[in-house]
Amino acid sequence: MESSYITSAQQAEQLPRLGHPEVAFVGRSNCGKSSLLNALLNRSGLARTSNTPGRTQMVNFFAVDHKEKRLVLADLPGYGFSAIGKEVRHHWQALVDGYLGRAEIRELLFLYDSRRVGDLKDDDLGLLEMLTKRKAPVTVVLTKCDKLNQSETQKAITTMAGDLKKEKLKVARVVAVSSLKKKGIEELRELVITPHLG
Ligand code: GDP
Repeated sequence: MESSYITSAQQAEQLPRLGHPEVAFVGRSNCGKSSLLNALLNRSGLARTSNTPGRTQMVNFFAVDHKEKRLVLADLPGYGFSAIGKEVRHHWQALVDGYLGRAEIRELLFLYDSRRVGDLKDDDLGLLEMLTKRKAPVTVVLTKCDKLNQSETQKAITTMAGDLKKEKLKVARVVAVSSLKKKGIEELRELVITPHLG
């Protein structure tokens, strides 16, 4: 499995037509999205970590190649900086709306810091609603699970599944990962990447 950076789009109109299946990653800023992309791709610096507030919001596209097949990973802009203004929020919405209209999407990954479980905010719920309306299955990925012990991690998964059910949000699964300790990474790769390269 080889991976490489393809391109980035800052506006919905710039979203490229790549002609390959896509797996999309979305989550609150600082949720660990770049670290997870790098862990899944076995690369240390492909996706840039530590987004700063106000940084240009864009969708970054990465290629995963295996034999003759190519899968595209789409890194959607983070959300949820309280300091950001209306304009940035509108831009985020337009870009994410534009992205989510793509027919190439095979999997949608919603990343969520495992320590925040039990505290879904309106912006999280709004995004989850947008995601679960799409055809592709949604995987909720609880990140940084090294911050919890094993029983707390299990409890976080159960609590998150229960909260989603209460909100009538249908997701395919809830999993927990640690990019730092490489926990659940191989399993997630087998669930959402390998099947599209076979
Ligand atoms: P992004 O803003 O969603 O792309 O998040 P980053 O990948 O840049 O990570 C945000 C912060 O969380 C950084 O300080 C990372 O070192 C930290 N982080 C990311 N993944 C993990 C993890 O699995 N475990 C721990 N403990 N920290 C993590």
